[in-house]
Amino acid sequence: MKKLKSANLYKEACRYLVGGVNSPVRAFKSVGGSPKFIAKASGSKIYDVDSNKYIDYVCSWGAIILGHAYPKVVSEVKKNLKNGSSFGAPTILETKLAKLICKVFTSIEMVRLVSSGTEAVMSAIRLARGYTSKSKVIKFAGCYHGHVDYLLVSAGSGAMTFGKPNSEGVLADFTKHTIVLPYNNIDILKDTIKKYHSEIACLIIEPVCGNMGVVLPKEGFLKEVEKLCKQYKIILIFDEIISGFRIAKNGIQGLYGIKPDITCLGKIIGGGFPLAAYGGRKEIMQNLSPIGSVYQAGTLSGNPIAVTAGLKTLEILLEKDEYKSINNKTKILCTALKENARKSGIDITINQIGSMFTVFFTNLDIFDFESANKVDAKFYRRYFHSMLNEKIYMPPSQFEANFLTFSHTWDDIEKTVTANKKALKSLWSGGKNINHKGKNYEFRKYL
Ligand code: PLP
Repeated sequence: MKKLKSANLYKEACRYLVGGVNSPVRAFKSVGGSPKFIAKASGSKIYDVDSNKYIDYVCSWGAIILGHAYPKVVSEVKKNLKNGSSFGAPTILETKLAKLICKVFTSIEMVRLVSSGTEAVMSAIRLARGYTSKSKVIKFAGCYHGHVDYLLVSAGSGAMTFGKPNSEGVLADFTKHTIVLPYNNIDILKDTIKKYHSEIACLIIEPVCGNMGVVLPKEGFLKEVEKLCKQYKIILIFDEIISGFRIAKNGIQGLYGIKPDITCLGKIIGGGFPLAAYGGRKEIMQNLSPIGSVYQAGTLSGNPIAVTAGLKTLEILLEKDEYKSINNKTKILCTALKENARKSGIDITINQIGSMFTVFFTNLDIFDFESANKVDAKFYRRYFHSMLNEKIYMPPSQFEANFLTFSHTWDDIEKTVTANKKALKSLWSGGKNINHKGKNYEFRKYL
């Protein structure tokens, strides 16, 4: 594979950009090697500066769902760009987008548009605190909600912990009101809420987690979370920044029949541009300025070009309604990947929902942060490079999700399965672990 141009550009980037990138995971730190510099993308493919063409499963970390440079979105953006790129004053487009979000998400009566997922989450929590006049926030270990100071906290092991900063620069004073709980553990949640409910403003959750790799809620978990929040008057915030308009048009809440008080959306709703939103019940949302006393603002909030791309994307998504087909394609891909691993004698667990999935090389169930961390991420590192060699662009970290778009074809699926077969073969051809005189020799770790 040609890689000289990317390598040289990365060297130069590292002189001027911190770590050569503008968001850490792009630097390939957890898989090693140097990142590919992308020249262009179209449909399900991305092309690097060395003219390598890859089938893309990163899809801008889930922001792209129709496919890259989707022609109708591109032409709408071009058309509206001629009218100016930012006014700092209201436009018709913002109301249209908000109206469409309210129509699809029945839990949302009013919306505020912002520019990033981090901003949506930070503002939603401020709103919840303002509305309830309470201080504490429950979050789950392994769920990522952007780089909000008081959510950058370390996870405890299998228990409730008060947040300790996991980034330099975050003061313990900021995180002391954050309670971190294990995902999928209803008993610990119940105990915590019983003890602290009078101080808890809100609970924020990725209803399907994409940020410790894909981790699904156990049966009944989300319903129980909803029930407890209602019972103890805790604002339930669903962070559907990944799952909204992806798993189903109305996200996980639509799929599971849950009505959170506030929902955060991002990624897909910007059609590849910087746009996010939070919205919920009118009674809560009206506490925001300029009507209420919770302050939040943004120079580029509701930027007309980002809204154009987002609105067009959502209109096409709703019109095409191809969720069944993309979800089915993803399921078939995952089944084939599992079958390849089984034939190669490699342990594998694939967590999949809708058009997102993560491959874990283990025979254990992955259902929370602790179990995800038991996985041999070194094996993934080798797998990632073997797949990249076969021109399949998967996330450069074990703890991220793969995404499909409506533009991924059956041909892409077939090529991915073939590449996966070759990659696994190159990594391991020794059959199952050897069990000799009662001792299990895990030769895989030596690969
Ligand atoms: N919430 C979730 C679930 C995310 O996956 C992310 C980013 O990946 C964020 C929030 C933060 O969004 P952004 O990167 O746009 O700030």
